[in-house]
Amino acid sequence: MPGTNLTREEARTRADLLHVDAYDIELDLGTAREGGTFRSTTVVRFTATTPGADTFIDLVAPGVEEITLNGTALDPASFADSRIPLPGLAAENELRVVANCAYTNTGEGLHRFVDPVDGETYLYTQFEVPDARRVFASFEQPDLKAAFTFTVTAPKGWVVVSNSPTPQPTGDGDTQVWAFEPTGRISTYITALIAGPYVGVFDSYENGDQKVPLGVYCRPSLREFLDAEAVFEVTKQGFDYFQEKFDFPYPFAKYDQLFVPEFNAGAMENAGAVTLRDQYVFRSKVTDAAYEARAATILHELAHMWFGDLVTMEWWNDLWLNESFATFAEAVCQAEAPGSKWPNSWTTFANQMKTWAYRQDQLPSTHPIMAEINDLEDVQVNFDGITYAKGASVLKQLVAYVGQDAFFQGVQAYFKRHAWGNTRLGDLLGALEEASGRDLKAWSKAWLETAGINVLRPSIVLNTDGEIESFTVLQEAPALPAGAKGEAVLRPHRIAIGLYELADGETLVRTDRIELDVDGPRTEVPELVGRHRPAVVLLNDDDLSYAKIRLDEDSLAVVTEHLGAFTESLPRALCWASAWDMTRDGELAARDYLSLALSGIGRESDIGVVQSVQRQVKLALDAYTDPAWREEGLGRWAAAAEEHLRGAEAGSDHQLAWARTLAAVARTDGQLDLLAGLLDGTAEIKGLAVDTELRWTLLVRLAATGRADEAAIAAELERDNTAAGQEHAATCRAARPTAEAKAQAWAAVVESDELTNYVQEATIVGFQQADQRELLEAYGAKYFAAVKGIWETRSHEISQQIIGGLYPALQVTQATVDATDAWLAAADPAPALRRQVVEAKAGVERALRAQAADRAAGGR
Ligand SMILES: [Zn+2]
Repeated sequence: MPGTNLTREEARTRADLLHVDAYDIELDLGTAREGGTFRSTTVVRFTATTPGADTFIDLVAPGVEEITLNGTALDPASFADSRIPLPGLAAENELRVVANCAYTNTGEGLHRFVDPVDGETYLYTQFEVPDARRVFASFEQPDLKAAFTFTVTAPKGWVVVSNSPTPQPTGDGDTQVWAFEPTGRISTYITALIAGPYVGVFDSYENGDQKVPLGVYCRPSLREFLDAEAVFEVTKQGFDYFQEKFDFPYPFAKYDQLFVPEFNAGAMENAGAVTLRDQYVFRSKVTDAAYEARAATILHELAHMWFGDLVTMEWWNDLWLNESFATFAEAVCQAEAPGSKWPNSWTTFANQMKTWAYRQDQLPSTHPIMAEINDLEDVQVNFDGITYAKGASVLKQLVAYVGQDAFFQGVQAYFKRHAWGNTRLGDLLGALEEASGRDLKAWSKAWLETAGINVLRPSIVLNTDGEIESFTVLQEAPALPAGAKGEAVLRPHRIAIGLYELADGETLVRTDRIELDVDGPRTEVPELVGRHRPAVVLLNDDDLSYAKIRLDEDSLAVVTEHLGAFTESLPRALCWASAWDMTRDGELAARDYLSLALSGIGRESDIGVVQSVQRQVKLALDAYTDPAWREEGLGRWAAAAEEHLRGAEAGSDHQLAWARTLAAVARTDGQLDLLAGLLDGTAEIKGLAVDTELRWTLLVRLAATGRADEAAIAAELERDNTAAGQEHAATCRAARPTAEAKAQAWAAVVESDELTNYVQEATIVGFQQADQRELLEAYGAKYFAAVKGIWETRSHEISQQIIGGLYPALQVTQATVDATDAWLAAADPAPALRRQVVEAKAGVERALRAQAADRAAGGR
């Protein structure tokens, strides 16, 4: 029984057999306000290379009313197991399917949301990976492209947006009809429909004769917070930059961006109708890092219009290439586009993408970038740090290797050659080889077909005068975790070495930079021989390659004392990342990482880096410190947070970041009194706006520490009775330190499927409180009793939230590891479920090792 799965082999067979011309899809959303189901009528025309052959079309729906193939009615009861069998194809075929499809509350298929502010219903689709079939009968695989014509019946007065420009609706009853023009030939997973009383703001991108209509939409209850001008500004910078670098005009008729509720991912690259999570419409003050992240997402989706939508992977094994390219493109555009507000985007890339990639690449589930994707279940758990972040890091390395001009020349040829078609990795590499003249086969094998991270270490020998007698870059093979796929290899690295001097004991300034190829276990660097030893030697300066970097002992000593003294943000970010990596590996004790953070963070100007370090310190304290020392470490960190909060510039991003940090860790009566005072207005920090979101941040901590009860939570929800408010209230309720609160949260998530994706996630976040380990201890056994049933009965997104979110990660004990192993042995879980549980267990095992290192440091 295939269930909702589809194997690569099945997809290949079907692609060999079929050519799909067009879909006509009629959706009756007149039922949207009531919910339940909606009527979906699909007419699909396609040819078959082998007349007489059989195939099937995909559909996930509560019921089918009619199936007509080439004029012959088929038994609707033949619809089973998410498929409709299509026997005895003709050379040219027309299939009509009438189905009752379901609205969802999981963010998959056609999501239905009711805004508590206005009581109105808002719909949007999310189809990647295989969920177009929840809305219309479809050949659900990326290489069966077709033209799509949507005709939508919806309540009068609604806004209806799809891939093609929105037509004037017709009809004057309670519902109207929107008849869209056909799309170009695109894949099912990037078709889209967004419908409801959304509000739009409009502009256009103009360049010579070209004029592309632009729209930005959100719910009316968020309209006052929508800074559409800022969205348009970044969008236009992206249009300019990508059109020039890709040498290919934007391929669709218009470009709408819709901020939609309860969206699972950051955004989705539907052709010409991008959906984005509506937390990107900021209701309260956020730091500049949030604006930067939103701009990156906007550029990421825009890059997909070419890479992904115009030219599409044949099968999901090249998902990495799709996502890596868009992730690389967002960063390079921010770094280089004229007028960009975030020219330091490579610092953010090092700080976030690299950290994500390094973490994922050391899990037992790590895999080569070119993953084996045998079926849909494989790909659904593969939207990971390898696919996005390591892939993008390796593309950055490829650009350093072939040169940026050659890289974009190759990309230009690729778009021209494959427009509206499907490709494999080899098609892009071939174009890059032609443009660069470099043979990429060995490069591709070393970087794309193997797993893990190399370590690069400097080996510096000085003569008696303190000059460098020899300088060697040592490369180590990745330490692959047991059970990881792939072999551990050394790789060719194009890197820069930065030499830094401490000027006046105040600033660390780069005095020289050498770029070279590192290959094999030892690479001599003769250029540095005979030179005076600088204060800091930084391997992989400018972050060109993908490797763990270790500092030599002298450099580490300077950095530990003067991390904030680098005048540039990127080397600081690289050193922060290196220190964090050493902490995770148990090479730096968590308490020493705390000392490093306490000494350096005050001088860190990059707010994104500050916020990352704040999160990492909290994680180090919760998971990586010796439990016997943990409370002391948390106390020091909380005291520092309060001091920084009080000392920060009024109204600054740093002030807000420290307020949130204190709210996450406050533990003394004085600190909790301060939170309570900020909330009720009896305390003030000059310049700190205690706005809607910050109020909830304060209240979560007060609820978790027993200082705010149900009445206080209900009162706050009355102040902010919005969807976001309901989510925060769910977090607060689940965070309360009582057995009843935990039991209620557990039941709501595990024993019922009524919570929406967002409320469920909010409940899980509240449930898992690091200070409540004893209260949560009993839930480890409950987790293992429930997890397989969750996987089998819930949708993919919902079960993924639960499996990862409710794992007993806070119980950092050998017993947790043993219980996990026992469950793995007894439950014999499906590979995708196994992977998620094994990844969670790896977090506990890593924490146990780090705690041992921290304990040893405590005894020294
Ligand atoms: Zn993407």
